[in-house]
Amino acid sequence: MTAQLIDGNALSKTLRADVATRAAALTARGHRPGLAVVLVGDNPASEVYVRNKVKACQDNGLHSVMDRFPAALAESDLLAHIAKLNADPSIHGILVQLPLPAHIDSHKVIEAIVPEKDVDGFHVANAGALLTGKPLFLPCTPYGVVKMFEAHGIDLKGANAVVIGRSNIVGKPMALLLLEAGATVTICHSKTRDIGKHTRDADVVVAATGRRNILTVDMVKPGATVIDVGMSRNDEGKLCGDVDFDAVREVAGYITPVPGGVGPMTITMLLVNTTEAAERTAQG
Ligand code: NAP
Repeated sequence: MTAQLIDGNALSKTLRADVATRAAALTARGHRPGLAVVLVGDNPASEVYVRNKVKACQDNGLHSVMDRFPAALAESDLLAHIAKLNADPSIHGILVQLPLPAHIDSHKVIEAIVPEKDVDGFHVANAGALLTGKPLFLPCTPYGVVKMFEAHGIDLKGANAVVIGRSNIVGKPMALLLLEAGATVTICHSKTRDIGKHTRDADVVVAATGRRNILTVDMVKPGATVIDVGMSRNDEGKLCGDVDFDAVREVAGYITPVPGGVGPMTITMLLVNTTEAAERTAQG
């Protein structure tokens, strides 16, 4: 059996068309959704991510500003800039691209964003609310994965789900969303003794480590849904995920490719969150 591909580009196209319609309606009422992207330093990967986010805003009728600062920026100056964006009525979402330079406390910076503009869903108020089921925003990457399950009618009720990775931005919120959807969830990480022991019994596996081939075909139950969040470069410099794609696609039921899977969905959900923030403001 060859797995059915979950195409993040195709799903994004549909969801972005809806965002563009909502953004146009808001703009007509004087509430054009606005996203501020803040980049500190010159990390080349961050530059690409930020450029893609700003372009996606432009392509779908959202207002976007990109604020670039040198790596030597003082933490206090960054906090002052966030305060300015918090007060700016043309900005509904604030995204600070991570990682920040080592001398800046990223927790402090994220906590400085008002939760109503925290479109990444990383503020402690939103992360905490995710635990109780009512956040203002879901973190974009796990939110995008949920949309992929929905689009393909993948039923999570009673499913065994394994998340590999336990970061605050992907692994942990992903596990909470799967739990919320009714799955029985296991979280694996770098200290897990035998990941395959868990994944072989899983109906759904979400790999989010950034380590190539962390999930190989012998670790996958036939027919399972395999979601690859990982992004790294192979020896030839080609973008690849965490999953041994060519072999795993022969046994899985559904699989996401890299590129063209979770990556575009993450940006799409950022647009969705920013539009939703603007709709809330417009409603007063
Ligand atoms: P992260 O903060 O570095 O976390 C990586 C996680 O993987 C950690 O929990 C770590 O475990 C676990 N891990 C590392 N090596 C492992 C191993 N050998 N076995 C099992 N677990 C292992 O990274 P992240 O921010 O969550 O991102 C994860 C990956 O997703 C990266 O490749 C990133 O580029 C990608 N990503 C993609 C998107 C997208 O839109 N496609 C968005 C965000 C992130 P410990 O906690 O024990 O160290």
